[in-house]
Amino acid sequence: MRILVCIRQGLDGEINPFDACAYEEALRVKGAEVTLISMGPISVKDFLLRLTRLGAKKAILLCDKSFAGADTLATAYTLSLAVKKLNPDLIFCGRQTLVGDTAQTGPMLSVLTDTSLITNVMSIDEIGDTVTCTTRDNGIQTVTTPALLTIERINNLRLPSIMSKLGEVEVWSAEDIDADIEKCGLSGSPTKVVKTFENESGKRKCKYITAEELPQVITEALKKRNDELVKTVSNTQKLDKVFIIGEGPRTFAETISDNITVLSLTNANDLAEKITKLKPNAVLWGSDSLSKKLSAQVAAKLNLGLCADCTLLETDGEELYMYRPTLSGSVIAKIVSRTKPAMATVRTTQNGADIMVAAGYGAKDSLDTVRAFAEKYSAEMITTRKAVDNDILPYSMQVGLTGKTVSPLVYIAVGVSGAVHHIAGMQKSGTIIAINSDKDAPIFDYADYGIVADIGNIVI
Ligand SMILES: Cc1cc2nc3c(=O)[nH]c(=O)nc-3n(C[C@H](O)[C@H](O)[C@H](O)COP(=O)(O)OP(=O)(O)OC[C@H]3O[C@@H](n4cnc5c(N)ncnc54)[C@H](O)[C@@H]3O)c2cc1C
Repeated sequence: MRILVCIRQGLDGEINPFDACAYEEALRVKGAEVTLISMGPISVKDFLLRLTRLGAKKAILLCDKSFAGADTLATAYTLSLAVKKLNPDLIFCGRQTLVGDTAQTGPMLSVLTDTSLITNVMSIDEIGDTVTCTTRDNGIQTVTTPALLTIERINNLRLPSIMSKLGEVEVWSAEDIDADIEKCGLSGSPTKVVKTFENESGKRKCKYITAEELPQVITEALKKRNDELVKTVSNTQKLDKVFIIGEGPRTFAETISDNITVLSLTNANDLAEKITKLKPNAVLWGSDSLSKKLSAQVAAKLNLGLCADCTLLETDGEELYMYRPTLSGSVIAKIVSRTKPAMATVRTTQNGADIMVAAGYGAKDSLDTVRAFAEKYSAEMITTRKAVDNDILPYSMQVGLTGKTVSPLVYIAVGVSGAVHHIAGMQKSGTIIAINSDKDAPIFDYADYGIVADIGNIVI
């Protein structure tokens, strides 16, 4: 069994956390021959070499000046040529990178290499001529090999043993993989960043209240309707014809067009055919895991740009301007698509409880209190990565950059510090309430209401 693991070096110089999980899963497959592949500058060679100490015998670095500045589709194209040359049985990718945060490259690569696909893998249950995996949102799935799996944050990458040996790193250029350089790097990327600016949008003005006032604040917050929560702009010019896949993106679509057609979330072939035939100006998708997967597959099939996780759309009647948070949410990028129709996934309100209660690391000694509080309001319990890493609550409950994105009507953070990585997954919530013993905790900058108190000392 030959397994190819796609790896990206993060901005911190470390392996992208999801890719680390993909690598560890590959190393756990008995008898597998594991190869690493990465695209990047020549400095990545040493990083890959160090990673071979964990078990991969070989790593390939795709390095050529024509590869620089690639968006997800241009990256998937370049990787696909190397994959065809290596011909693995399985390709493992991390669910997403933290830099791009799109979750598109894996599904696009599966289309371009004609391999089966399972995304959001929580466990690999069986590997043979077929692969069976348990996924995060879509149950147990079985596909035939060759297959590509995108892996969630389900394990910890091993440390090198003292006996470990270095493998070898081969550097492949555009010529080595017969790449059409028009399809690589910046020039081959259908999406284009027009400008970037600092993101202040998540910040709110916090009103401090007492624990006694909390029930009244929750009741008032529940009265606000969901679609009032989506930030809208009034575009004077509109696009002629916009498709939405499922009802989720409707509120966004209404800001850019008066002519909206809904297609149901069927399969990538069917949707690609309809989009080609009916030629809309733009196609908007939701942000659930199925929409993310199908949108990336359709983009790869039709060679279209796809902007991920937009929080705002603008149009002058011709062009669609798509705004999305990037770099852990600290920066907003304004993006256009060079290909038509423009396609984007938009941050939609996920189906889920109206009220969510996040128990952070600071609530670790008061979990029973937080649980009883959540039950009283029929709320869903969620948590932070620090609580997960310390085995206080399970990963399935983790919200944030490396967890899930939620946007309930009411989000109540108990003992959560408000790190940007957590905020990225909850800042679209309706009303945000924070309970924290530290009056200077960053979470209060993102909250509408705050209670400064030790959770062990108040009644909620
Ligand atoms: C690459 C990367 C990705 C990440 N992805 C995520 C992610 O997806 N999701 C995520 O959540 N984090 C993520 N993190 C981690 C993130 O940076 C923070 O470390 C984490 O969110 C902190 O969790 P916390 O707020 O529960 O804990 P802490 O930072 O320890 O905060 C605990 C808070 O509880 C308060 N507190 C303590 N005791 C009490 C008490 N008795 N009563 C009331 N308040 C109390 C403290 O004042 C403090 O503000 C990521 C980090 C990195 C580097």
